Amino acid sequence: MKINNIIYSKGAKIEAFLYSAEAPNDRQMQELISFLRKKYNSDVTLTWVEDVELSDGFRIEVGRVEGDDPHSNWKLDSVYDWSLKGRLQQLKDDIAQLSAGGSNIIPLMKETIKNWTPKALEQEIGTVLAVGDGIATISGLNNAAYREIVVFSSGVRGKVVELNRDVTGCILFDEDQSVAEGSTVRRTGRTAGMPVGDEFTGRVINALGSPIDGKGPIKAEDYLPIESPAPGIIDRKPVSKPLETGILAIDSLFPIGHGQRELIIGDRQTGKTTIALDTILNQKGKNVICIYVAIGQKASSVAHTVDILRKHGAMEYSIVVNASASEPAPLQYIAPYAGCTLGEYFMRKGQRVLIVYDDLTKHATAYRSLSLLLERSPGREAYPGDVFYLHSRLLERSAQLSDEKGGGSMTALPIVETQAGNVSAYIPTNIISITDGQIFLESELFFSGQRPAVNIGLSVSRVGGDAQTEAMKRAVGTLRLELAQYHEMEVFMQFASDLDDTTRQQLDYGHSLMQVLRQEKHRPMKEYEQIIILVAALNRIMMGVPPEKISGFKYGLLNYIEKEGSHIIRKIENGEFDEKVKEEIIKISQEYLNIFHGGGK
Ligand code: ATP
Ligand code: MG
Repeated sequence: MKINNIIYSKGAKIEAFLYSAEAPNDRQMQELISFLRKKYNSDVTLTWVEDVELSDGFRIEVGRVEGDDPHSNWKLDSVYDWSLKGRLQQLKDDIAQLSAGGSNIIPLMKETIKNWTPKALEQEIGTVLAVGDGIATISGLNNAAYREIVVFSSGVRGKVVELNRDVTGCILFDEDQSVAEGSTVRRTGRTAGMPVGDEFTGRVINALGSPIDGKGPIKAEDYLPIESPAPGIIDRKPVSKPLETGILAIDSLFPIGHGQRELIIGDRQTGKTTIALDTILNQKGKNVICIYVAIGQKASSVAHTVDILRKHGAMEYSIVVNASASEPAPLQYIAPYAGCTLGEYFMRKGQRVLIVYDDLTKHATAYRSLSLLLERSPGREAYPGDVFYLHSRLLERSAQLSDEKGGGSMTALPIVETQAGNVSAYIPTNIISITDGQIFLESELFFSGQRPAVNIGLSVSRVGGDAQTEAMKRAVGTLRLELAQYHEMEVFMQFASDLDDTTRQQLDYGHSLMQVLRQEKHRPMKEYEQIIILVAALNRIMMGVPPEKISGFKYGLLNYIEKEGSHIIRKIENGEFDEKVKEEIIKISQEYLNIFHGGGK
């Protein structure tokens, strides 16, 4: 490269460099200077630099001179690219923009190429000031928008997350090795997006939507922004259809409806993931798309989860989005939004979606580290002030859409991990306040063998009751009340050595009910099975069975009724669950109880 100084108006605050293969003539130089003068409202120094590679155009880089020494303090401000390479990049960007909008882009693409004329676009170019830990701070991108995607000279992409007066903060979506201090960055004018489509079902993808299961590329139907506004009130309708988890303790006491957001909360290793997973397994054949978003988990745990889904034939209707602990914080931060975008794609097509965020505690931690690195001021528990907004804008996107909007729904099961059962820590309280209820799991119950370890007193479902079927409501009857009484009495039991008969019986009864609520993992129960068990238990059939045998009795009874009382099952499934059917269940259960004792099954 040869520098040939043709300098006009020396000593100006704006200094520009013109790169081209051939020297411009005087008139051309004057025209350029008057253009720049008008644009920057200041005197301009223009230097021509010979660049033989630019035989088919030219490029102007404009910068500001700061301080008195013009050579060391020149800061790049913008670039006017009229080279072949630049124009091709423009065409590429235009086509990319196109594919972001429509679903059938081929005719649009042909049209665009036919009518395309290059524009002398002003490109805003920034310079990296510092980079590290998945974060880059950039100067010079004065017009960049919040959440805009920027591209570094090495091709690495980033997203603007912090706008200050002189500095723009950015998170990087790829490895940051190729980005260094002084690298240039250009704006794209687009916000972060995510490919979506029907072919994503059955696949494991990363937070950017690329497959990571080694099963080849996925054909996308569309490309949607990962942050989009939640459906408004007019577009919604109340939750009215049950989403069965197949877990007796939940479906009977804390029913969940389509479009609801139910939090699963508890300490480490209390069966949180298992509840979400079993709910996915139970959606088999129910026409529900399930999305499992794993955030900050060990890769081995996620592999285990995928394995369980595959073994139970649930992967066919599921998508796993994984940003494991080893991945950079920015990817862990966008993973739930990516999953949600996929869910929205199906919901807007009128389908029913179940999405699990496992878990939002790790999500908040990833966001906290990003914010601290961006030097945002830390608030409570060192989280940035907008951590609440982070989760509310995610969970608000779950909805039951109105019939006019296609009637699709997205049910969310966010998971939160607590420390020593402390639900009043910052993240748990935030998320409790923006969900429609919580399933609270307790270590103590879990270790005493009560699995799923649902704490009946602290769990609640605020809207799902409306979605419970009539049959289920009738079968559940007084269960909650009986359990509440039992828990109250249980406290006395610790002090009293000899109890009177009625109290002892009450306790035994409560104890048997608790046993009935125990359920093996990955063994969801159908609604009619749950109804039969509830009727039998609430009519004290199980009191005749020693506690440790109740689990065996339950499954035995169901098998027996399948063989000897299939008409009862048919009636319940047809919604004909009345007093007569109830009597029949009690009768047949009694029958089985006698066999159970007599035959010693
Ligand atoms: P972490 O905090 O590590 O994410 P978690 O709360 O998600 O844990 P799980 O991984 O679901 O808990 O469960 C912990 C262990 O308990 C697992 O080994 C799981 O198989 C077992 N488990 C969970 N629920 C049941 C159940 N109903 N019956 C038997 N075992 C269970
Ligand atoms: Mg878990």
